[in-house]
Amino acid sequence: MRRPIIAANWKLNMLRHEAQAFLVAFRADWDAETHEASPEIIIAPPFTALETAARALNDCNVALAGQNVFFESSGAFTGEISPAMLRDAGCRYCIVGHSERRSLFAETDQEISRKAHALLKAGVRPIICVGETLEEREAGKTEDVLAAQLDGSLEDLEPVNARDIVLAYEPVWAIGTGRTATPEQAQETHAFIRAHLQAGRLRDQAKTLRIQYGGSVKPDNIRALMARPDIDGALVGGASLRPDSFARIACFDQPENTSS
Ligand code: PEP
Repeated sequence: MRRPIIAANWKLNMLRHEAQAFLVAFRADWDAETHEASPEIIIAPPFTALETAARALNDCNVALAGQNVFFESSGAFTGEISPAMLRDAGCRYCIVGHSERRSLFAETDQEISRKAHALLKAGVRPIICVGETLEEREAGKTEDVLAAQLDGSLEDLEPVNARDIVLAYEPVWAIGTGRTATPEQAQETHAFIRAHLQAGRLRDQAKTLRIQYGGSVKPDNIRALMARPDIDGALVGGASLRPDSFARIACFDQPENTSS
């Protein structure tokens, strides 16, 4: 049984007072419900709002995540943040290999693998993102691209640590575009990812490893996505910036009219 996992990626948004106001409003909605599916909820604020968020989430079972990390633990690396620093700031998770980091900051699978390894060593769980571009999908290369990203990004992973990682399938063409993969397309790709892992070193872990879908997830499409057998959660960008819309996504297991 895989516990559902819903994460908010705030990206380059939210000053501290905005994060505080968001989390007060979100908690009012979240704490008011009983959560039958007991989803794990994660918020990934910018680094500067981590401490504010940690205070606002005190006594609450919502976890914090970093949006990025560096793989070294200390030293002359101006501007970087280490896994231990994230942990010290209260993070239980960290997103790595988001497509924006891959495309805008030229992050490679090898770096992603090193980051994931360093996070695990520090006791922070990596959320490793993979996804194809529209051009790659239209050229029929989705599976090859994902297989290469998975093999490269998981290269340093000991199978025994697989229980502490989460994968996020985020088709690049669906991120921030309003164009969501259909639940069928997402399910088909998640099933491919799981089968690929099962055929490789993670034969015994693939069935329990959680795979989130990301790409224009909203309150009105989350239920259809979560109903698919290989979709274990969501990584949410734009719709996580409003507390009411993120609460409706997080409360996907509630009847629609009681969670808004
Ligand atoms: C993301 O940035 O991870 C994402 C999925 O963004 P959006 O929900 O806005 O498409």
